[in-house]
Amino acid sequence: LAQRLHGLGTTIFAEMSALAVRTGSVNLGQGFPDTDGPDSILEDAIQAIRGGANQYPPGRGIPALRLAIAAHQDRFYGLKYDPDTQVLVTTGATEAIAAALLAYVEPGDEVIALEPYYDSYAAGIALAGGKRVPVTLRAPDFRLDLDELRAAVTDRTTVLLINSPHNPTGTVLTDDELRGIAALAVERDLVVITDEVYEHLVFDGGRHIPLASYEGMAERTVSIGSAGKTFSVTGWKIGWVTGTPEVVTAVTTAKQFLTYVSGAPFQPAIAGALALGNDYFDGFRATMQAKRDRLCDGLSALGFGVFRPQGTYFVTTDVRPLGFTDGIEFCRMLPEKAGVVAIPHQVFYDNVEAGRPLVRWAFCKQDEVIDEALTRLAKL
Ligand code: PMP
Ligand code: GLN
Repeated sequence: LAQRLHGLGTTIFAEMSALAVRTGSVNLGQGFPDTDGPDSILEDAIQAIRGGANQYPPGRGIPALRLAIAAHQDRFYGLKYDPDTQVLVTTGATEAIAAALLAYVEPGDEVIALEPYYDSYAAGIALAGGKRVPVTLRAPDFRLDLDELRAAVTDRTTVLLINSPHNPTGTVLTDDELRGIAALAVERDLVVITDEVYEHLVFDGGRHIPLASYEGMAERTVSIGSAGKTFSVTGWKIGWVTGTPEVVTAVTTAKQFLTYVSGAPFQPAIAGALALGNDYFDGFRATMQAKRDRLCDGLSALGFGVFRPQGTYFVTTDVRPLGFTDGIEFCRMLPEKAGVVAIPHQVFYDNVEAGRPLVRWAFCKQDEVIDEALTRLAKL
């Protein structure tokens, strides 16, 4: 096995979902909804297959989808992109992240990522031959310390890998934090890869602000989105990159040799989905916010230390109030003892101490499923 793959192993999500199936547990581990996206878009994909969208689509994505992505960025954020030169359709955000890292990281370059980091970041940086430099978001509020971020930048730093709304903490970066990141990126001439897949899951009246909208950022930002989260079709693997023509060309160069193109029949369906009315996006967010409160209130009542998230569909808890000290041990014990699966934070850290007692739960599940998990957890 090549050195660059050492230590990557099996993703925690596959491991924990397999454990859930094996033990008949309620799976609040891996983040996927247990209700599929709107019927109209499922029907559109079926029609696309029947209509012959079954061969290689264009490399950058079908024109209708690129147009819809550009229109979405304009509608929600006032960001203007030329669909022909500034939009790339990818095989999920995962491919976009990997292709962006391959496009911008030279072997030995340092890439700064917010820790805890989504697991594919570590793998993507490793595949590109880069060196991961974490900046830790710490309990209880998981804010970004801009001084720490600044201190992490060295002469070898080339890329900042940012994620907001942030998985797994649920932090939504504030205008001030984003402004600080942008100023630093401009000052140190860094490329910023920004993973904004939970853009439509910001709660309590807050709003998502794309990093690309800050001064000096348009020309240095690789913005990444995904249909999987927003339309509850995680298995379709349709994501996208927006940026300058130079950025999109660079990422396309890597993407074309990773997968060449992305899922033909799903593309017209997602083009339609992106054009759904505000009622869809508002309804989706409101539904998830209610589920957040359902799970957070239930976990609080059971004695967990609950960090109510501002965004995403994950909640982080501290298991120490229940007498446990280690999240990995807790998550290994949980399926046997309670029939529930969750994800230990530790696997998302270099600095494992910061994540040791933390456990993540997904609430993108039917209310009955959340309730069943809580009933089971009461037996702990
Ligand atoms: N980034 C983050 C922060 C995620 O949580 C996920 C998926 N769960 C992805 C990227 C990957 O998205 P996709 O399924 O579109 O590849
Ligand atoms: N992003 C999802 C999560 O954080 C899982 C995606 C995956 O399994 N790779 O749970």
